[in-house]
Amino acid sequence: MKAVKIENLSVYYGQTKALENVSMEVEEGEFLGIMGPNGGGKSTLLKAVLGLIPTTTGRILVYNKDIKENRSIIGYVPQFATMDKRFPISVFEVVLTGCIRKKISLFHKYSSKDRELAYEQLNRVGIAKLANRQISELSGGEFQKLLIARALAVQPKLLLLDEPTASVDAKSRDQIYELLGELNKEMTIILVTHDMMAISSNVRSLACLNGDLTYHGELELNENIV
Ligand code: ADP
Ligand code: ADP
Repeated sequence: MKAVKIENLSVYYGQTKALENVSMEVEEGEFLGIMGPNGGGKSTLLKAVLGLIPTTTGRILVYNKDIKENRSIIGYVPQFATMDKRFPISVFEVVLTGCIRKKISLFHKYSSKDRELAYEQLNRVGIAKLANRQISELSGGEFQKLLIARALAVQPKLLLLDEPTASVDAKSRDQIYELLGELNKEMTIILVTHDMMAISSNVRSLACLNGDLTYHGELELNENIV
């Protein structure tokens, strides 16, 4: 089973080329790392898989279905740097919003099951005791774990993470890598990162993006490909 199948994907933002003619397959259960220079199109690729940007040309299938049909099986951890932490919302409420993505209703009432599910995810990422904190009070590492918990509340089969350790201290970084290793036993993971430690501790295959796909294959750490 292919978790993701990308065929001839090109994305332009106006005149700016972000991705050109990228084709790639990701097996179910794979842990794929995506590396490449800034502006190489890594975030764009994740957002295209999520269906957040209209693809200029090409086709993307997630577990053999069009993303419009299958979006609810994807968990997404956006880049920390783009999030606003001043919003007055508690840690627990943020994770609950992850539960709602499945149901797509503005008037959704959270069930006790949703609450249980949300609490389980906080526990899983190790920040259950921070449930009632405001997000403005979290450290970088705690906030990143919260974003992962929110993504897990979707109960995804495919987890997409955009540089989850970019603004995180060494201890939280190790914890996040350990967690991702555990999660990979249950779900396919695609991780955008610049961190060689992530690559060596988690990743089993590697893709390099620089506008187009310059490498995709099994990870061989000795090879000078990045
Ligand atoms: P990476 O994640 O590898 O740093 P991005 O996918 O963020 O790369 O960006 C790829 C290219 O697309 C860059 O040239 C970037 O400036 C451009 N780009 C990304 N997002 C937008 C946007 N919303 N509007 C215009 N250009 C964008
Ligand atoms: P940007 O980098 O362009 O600022 P983000 O990557 O932070 O944007 O998020 C883009 C959009 O994706 C936001 O509108 C956000 O609400 C939405 N989003 C965040 N998490 C998920 C998710 N798990 N599933 C679907 N959409 C999501």
